[in-house]
Amino acid sequence: MSDRGDEFKPSAERKTSKEMVRPGEREDMVEQVPKERIVDGLGVSPGIAIGIAQVRESGAVNVPEYRIAATKVTTEQTRLKDAVARVRRQIARLRVKARRRTNNLPDAASDELGYLLDAYYHMLKDSRLVRGATLRIATERINAEAAVQAEIAVIAETFQAMHDPYLAARIEDIRQVGNRLVKHLTKASVPQFKPVPKGSVIVAEELTPADTAQLDPDRVVGIAVQVGGSQSHTAIMARALGLPAVLGAPGLMAAVKTGDHILVDGDLGQIVFNPSPASLAVFRRRRSERLRDKRRFKRLAKQAAVTRDGTEIILQANVELPLEMDNIVASGAQGIGLLRSEFMFMNRAAMPNEDEQYAALRSVVERADGNPVTIRTLDFGGDRGAAGLVGEFGESVTSPLGVRGIRLSLARSELLETQFRAILRAGAHGTVRILLPMVTVVSEIRAAREILARAARRLHRRGADIPTALPPLGTMIEVPGAALSADALAQVSDFFAVGSNDLTMYTLAIDRGDEWVAHLYNPLHPGVLRLIQFAAASALRARIPVSICGEIAGDPRFTALLLGLGFRELSMIASSIPQVKQRILDIDLVTADRRTRLIMDQTDATHIQSLLDEFNALV
Ligand code: PEP
Ligand code: MG
Repeated sequence: MSDRGDEFKPSAERKTSKEMVRPGEREDMVEQVPKERIVDGLGVSPGIAIGIAQVRESGAVNVPEYRIAATKVTTEQTRLKDAVARVRRQIARLRVKARRRTNNLPDAASDELGYLLDAYYHMLKDSRLVRGATLRIATERINAEAAVQAEIAVIAETFQAMHDPYLAARIEDIRQVGNRLVKHLTKASVPQFKPVPKGSVIVAEELTPADTAQLDPDRVVGIAVQVGGSQSHTAIMARALGLPAVLGAPGLMAAVKTGDHILVDGDLGQIVFNPSPASLAVFRRRRSERLRDKRRFKRLAKQAAVTRDGTEIILQANVELPLEMDNIVASGAQGIGLLRSEFMFMNRAAMPNEDEQYAALRSVVERADGNPVTIRTLDFGGDRGAAGLVGEFGESVTSPLGVRGIRLSLARSELLETQFRAILRAGAHGTVRILLPMVTVVSEIRAAREILARAARRLHRRGADIPTALPPLGTMIEVPGAALSADALAQVSDFFAVGSNDLTMYTLAIDRGDEWVAHLYNPLHPGVLRLIQFAAASALRARIPVSICGEIAGDPRFTALLLGLGFRELSMIASSIPQVKQRILDIDLVTADRRTRLIMDQTDATHIQSLLDEFNALV
């Protein structure tokens, strides 16, 4: 939670009054104060940021150029083919969205947009652009991005030479399509984020979690993005970095340019351009309230989280990036309940080797100071697209229903074994637990356990220093099928961690990163709650530890319900620990249990919400 960028003076405060007219200066020469404008979106990371907009143009990509070996020609051509398929799908989706959005435009305008997108779509179907670039990869032995760029340049030259106004207009279309292609291809290699000045608010049409991980919190004060839902990994990454963020703000890109003064209100979900003195006064007031809360909460760090009737609850932290460790230690977290290991794999072309992973994990384990660190194996897929693996698995690797999480790890078992070896070695420096993401069946856990044993045998043979007993191997319960068979999974798991983010997404068939359905995303849906309840009860019956590490664990409005469902371990973003702890100190477990029973008898999410709100207001 943060408020950032106070040095900034809004334009409206710079010259607003008559007193500011200097001698000799005419009143009508006073700089026109730009009017405040507001774009609404989803507040996904709390706090307010004020700064200068840095628009990240989706078309502006750095095009890497390099020679490829003769043996890599087919791989490179496949990469191009996959990018073409992805862009075609993207354009097809845009056509649907455009149709929806242009319903109230005059027919001519909506037809024009439709024709344009149709033309883009067909340009990618065995067009000269695609054929030419494919051929160039083989003849010039260059990477796909460079081949697309070269082909665009040649087509543009040919069209220009014909002096035909129609063809001249088509050059721009070909460039648009080519840029989209290059953008997709570049994502598959290593996307670079250009350094920005201190006090920047990053504004983009789309921002991936990997892009977000590259932001420097010393320079960037906030994030405003046109697309994206509140539970997306980009949102989670923004929260981890403590950057106020608004995602899912339609119309944002049309309203902004680099250099605009901008306020991002992550609490209210608003992006304010040229904030007025009144908006700024509200910002200052809210900031002092927040600072007061922060000081109050700081005092809680050393206190145990014990309910009024004496039950201790373990509060742990989720980690996205190792740079969070200072805040985690200061928050009083009793270990790490979820270390999302994806950070080691992001923004790089090649997979990290065992030593690199070991070094990164060891530094986290050492900072945890003997507290347990739960390291989740790679969970690429979905919105954290493992673009580098697209060549091998196609679109499946970026689909939430494809080779995600444990499926990818088992399909590339050498990748999992390397990760296990790094984790086992890091375990020699503290206490580690291993967590498997996206599990759906017992056989996945069994297969992973065999690979873990193999990794340990290899390390023993090498004489490496690893813990004598293998670390506990746990299962994420985040797929409805896994929750419904939790009793079976509990038989082969050492612990459970309930991932309510994905569990909600898959149960309700709502993409957590899609702003159009974000209002329907509701972990209080009785279907989701019943699955969570069943998973927790199965773990308790099998006498294995169970925690919850989805975003609801860090929201104090849900705490009483989670305790009532049987959770005694909650893992969340470090900045949420104090509020949740405060809530636990106020709760009486017996009354929380009673309210939970009442809630679990309900059929309607809205009623459940009011029963919970009413309970939270009472105690
Ligand atoms: C979850 O799905 O709830 C979870 C904790 O995992 P992630 O958010 O990384 O998918
Ligand atoms: Mg998940």
